[in-house]
Amino acid sequence: MRTGFHISIAGGFRNVIQRAIDRKCETLQLFSRNPRAWKYRVLDKEDIGIFKKGMDQVQISPIFVHMPYLVNLASSDKDLFQRSVDSLVVELQRTALINAHFVIMHIGSCSNEEKGLRSMIKGINQALQRAKNKIILLLENTPKSGHELGYEFTQIKEIIDGIEQNQRIGVVLDTAHAFAAGYPLHTKHGVARSLAEFDEIIGIDRLMLVHLNDSKTSIGSCRDRHWHVGKGNIGKGMGYILNHCLLQDKPFILETPRKNLRDDLMNLRMVKKLLQRK
Ligand SMILES: [Zn+2]
Ligand SMILES: [Zn+2]
Repeated sequence: MRTGFHISIAGGFRNVIQRAIDRKCETLQLFSRNPRAWKYRVLDKEDIGIFKKGMDQVQISPIFVHMPYLVNLASSDKDLFQRSVDSLVVELQRTALINAHFVIMHIGSCSNEEKGLRSMIKGINQALQRAKNKIILLLENTPKSGHELGYEFTQIKEIIDGIEQNQRIGVVLDTAHAFAAGYPLHTKHGVARSLAEFDEIIGIDRLMLVHLNDSKTSIGSCRDRHWHVGKGNIGKGMGYILNHCLLQDKPFILETPRKNLRDDLMNLRMVKKLLQRK
């Protein structure tokens, strides 16, 4: 099992290398641009060259690129929808340019679920059609805050079934989001049942990544507050997740709170400890 963190690109992609080494990353996730803006800079060739060489040398793989937050392919607003499709095309292209492997996108929000899901399907089909490369797009489950879709495995399955090139689609399971959406990941039985349900509905082979976050909020709260591994309301459940047989070959990325490097190393130590306690 490979573990890693979300790493900042502040100061340039080249800075990712040392930050990843400091956190003992075997895999990692990053934003390729400001996640809270539409505008972006073209990639700097020299900077990207250094980054790619560094990733090869330390053998960090796979690399996941997280989409900006503003994107909403489920939106009924035509302009926002179009901007979101354009943005996804750009992200798929940038991901290929930095030799990364996956793009992660949150499933969007819409007050009308059926319309929203149809809009997601339409947008993804358009983007995959325009960005002709081998990058896999991963759909991330949501905590169901506001009008977010994709809080139930059946909705994710419905989207996948509508995608023409669905060999280019995978799923990210965020444990804090699933818990906030009502999946009982705090008990051994709940973890087993939830993962069996994922396998039955979506298929475990579609699962390309686990976002291993504990939750500061309670089960079914629909609120997204990531917390330190083992110290939130999922608590012991984190150990059951890490040791579950269906997840043994999946990469795990932590998006736990951090003030500094020590917080990350503390969470990583906890992961290793839970893994030994089978
Ligand atoms: Zn996540
Ligand atoms: Zn989250």
